Amino acid sequence: MGLPKSLLEGYRRFVRDRHTPERGRYIQLAELGQTPTAMVIACCDARVDVSAIFDAGAGELFILRNVANLVPPHEPEGKFHGTSAAVEYAALVLKVPHIVILGHSHCGGIAAYRERLKGNANENSFIARWLTLLDGLEVREGDMASHSRETAFELAGIRQSLANLRSFPAIREREEAGLLALHGLHFDIASGELIALDEAGKRFAALAAA
Ligand SMILES: [Zn+2]
Repeated sequence: MGLPKSLLEGYRRFVRDRHTPERGRYIQLAELGQTPTAMVIACCDARVDVSAIFDAGAGELFILRNVANLVPPHEPEGKFHGTSAAVEYAALVLKVPHIVILGHSHCGGIAAYRERLKGNANENSFIARWLTLLDGLEVREGDMASHSRETAFELAGIRQSLANLRSFPAIREREEAGLLALHGLHFDIASGELIALDEAGKRFAALAAA
């Protein structure tokens, strides 16, 4: 079976409408390397189109996607840490000034974690193992009061990933030195609303759209 027609046609449109008109910029990116404005850690969910949400072009965002936009804690003795490797590369090599954890509504990963809490999961799957990163998740009363229960769990996941990011010495040091800012955002698929964690105020509030 060949590549789906939609992918082939999409690639042709990309070359015609974007790569060809911006050829100079792509050549510059190839020669000078990437200097992204931010690392964005988002979910694999096909409905969370990170570049579209931020209207970002090639070279602007260093994007990592995994199930439920999770960051594991700093575990030097661990095995295959793809997410930690990307975090390390962004912080130490690219020296990005911002890291964004981008959660989203209707997250299947968070829903699977909630099912696991009820005992409805195949514990031997890769997903079940990955979702143990959410064990001990603290769902805030304040989030439950202002948002749906489902959203409150998603927000708690974002808070947990931010805490785990800060367990990386390189991240903590760069943040304390004022070289790196961490952000927690949640995207609502249906409304397009983006809410942001105000860590001083300890709550998520809407970002002004315009
Ligand atoms: Zn998700």
